Amino acid sequence: MEHLDDLVAAYRILAQYGVIDAYGHVSIRSPSNPQRYVIARSLAPEVVQVDDLMEYDLDSNPLDARGRESVRERFIHGEIYKARPDVMAVVHNHSPSVIPFSVTGVPMRPIYHMASFIGDGVPNFEIRDVEKGTDLLVKTPKLGAALARTLGKSPASLMRGHGAVVVGENIARAVGRSVYLEQSAQLQMQAMALSDRITYLDDGEVKASVGVQDYKRAWPMWREKALERAKADRKHGQ
Ligand code: MN
Repeated sequence: MEHLDDLVAAYRILAQYGVIDAYGHVSIRSPSNPQRYVIARSLAPEVVQVDDLMEYDLDSNPLDARGRESVRERFIHGEIYKARPDVMAVVHNHSPSVIPFSVTGVPMRPIYHMASFIGDGVPNFEIRDVEKGTDLLVKTPKLGAALARTLGKSPASLMRGHGAVVVGENIARAVGRSVYLEQSAQLQMQAMALSDRITYLDDGEVKASVGVQDYKRAWPMWREKALERAKADRKHGQ
């Protein structure tokens, strides 16, 4: 089951790069049924194995829970798959360097080629517009649907005071975009500290580089290393 190995690898890659901490998650749309998605049960991303993966319908009901605990913010995934037929993978993270952009109104801009997709627009989800006094978690279908509306056709959306959601038409792209969104946020803050005159990618450059940004060189290497770690963990009974 290659797609399940892809997902195990994605968890471990995102943990390795500090994009998801103990609480982030990544899902894939089921390759055999577009009305289903697969995501890990509630546990730390860097220890995820195939047995921890659970299947859900798009209303985010588990199909075969077998006593396994679901992540509370799974509605992010189900509602985005409903709204975006093109999306095959979703990452929700607490990517630390994007948080300052989510709370200041300073827009993320395409500062380098590895994250040129930012030039397609990265909106910011304000949960308060939907519901006041929340703990910021997207833990209902209503909040998930509102987040999906804010995301619109974009490759990613920030979530004010919380993190981000990143999507892709395959898992390599969703993971790659997540890694480079974090790095791009760091680079933009560094550039802004140096100068108020920054040369960002222009529209033509954004258009020219989005297509090639499939992270095809990184993904097989990331995946192989991550699955080696998963295998070693199983050997040591973790
Ligand atoms: Mn969260």
